[in-house]
Amino acid sequence: MLVPMLSASMCALILVLPAPAQNEPTTAEPPVRKVLVLGVDGMRGDALTRAETPHLDRLVAEGSFRTDATNAWTAENAWNGHSATNWGVLLTGVSPARTDLCANGDGEHGIRDDEEGPAAFPTLFGHVKRHDAELETAVFYTWAGIGIGDAAPLARSASVLDHDFCPESGPSSAERDVATIDAVVQCLAGRSPYAGADPDVVFVHLSQLDSAGHAHSYGSPEYGAAVGRVDALIGRLLAAIAARPRRDREAWLILLSADHGGPEDSKGHGDNSLAAVHTVPFLLWADGLERVELERPSLYDITPTALAWLGIDPEPLELDGRSLLPR
Ligand SMILES: [Zn+2]
Ligand SMILES: [Zn+2]
Repeated sequence: MLVPMLSASMCALILVLPAPAQNEPTTAEPPVRKVLVLGVDGMRGDALTRAETPHLDRLVAEGSFRTDATNAWTAENAWNGHSATNWGVLLTGVSPARTDLCANGDGEHGIRDDEEGPAAFPTLFGHVKRHDAELETAVFYTWAGIGIGDAAPLARSASVLDHDFCPESGPSSAERDVATIDAVVQCLAGRSPYAGADPDVVFVHLSQLDSAGHAHSYGSPEYGAAVGRVDALIGRLLAAIAARPRRDREAWLILLSADHGGPEDSKGHGDNSLAAVHTVPFLLWADGLERVELERPSLYDITPTALAWLGIDPEPLELDGRSLLPR
């Protein structure tokens, strides 16, 4: 009887075949998707050239970045100059022409996240909650005009937030930003006063760049110093994410932008004809995502991009922006 001869290399091949796995799941669990949206008030597109910014530089190097994203002030619009319109755009993905959120402190608008009645234009948080009420949303800010509070433009959003933070106005916006980041770090760690928190969507507003611009001009050394402080605060956020106990099973998307920039040599951001005013930085960084070529992005793209990362198709929502993630 003929016995087939095995060559030495075939033996080697057979020997390295792994033994059948015992008690191993057949498919690995997909990572839990998380989103951090950073809104830096008054951040010029070129802000990162104004100071040492090692933490943002790393995100820029690893992610996708443009210095010339557009806000909602790019045409001759009645709402130009009002920051709240841009925050409304960032947090809804919908034009002020549709939401009627056309001025700071404008309470008459179509943004609503309340559970009852039709949702005219829900915020990012509202869409997330409608998709899955178990997902945790959190917002941190100190400028009440952003409107995620009582009697403010995005007030109804508060009804679907799990965690929010807006302290009484403190001594300086730089100190309020520190308090903001302190709160986010506690929330990301699930520590008091956010014991047990495990947020899925986190929005953070930092205010001191705009304050430095209004006090000293948006090209001043003080503005540059504020850029450096903001970078250090963002470094604390990144460390807090890195320290999460299940970090290796999470997939984070980080988006950063601003409501507007500001002129080099004056203290107001009202002159919308200046590119330095109506263009803003736009950063997109995500776990496992290669650099993508960002076609000129806008604030309208923040909410649909965040939703797409979470597996929520923005297409049927008829937003005015689009997801920037590769399909
Ligand atoms: Zn602003
Ligand atoms: Zn301002």
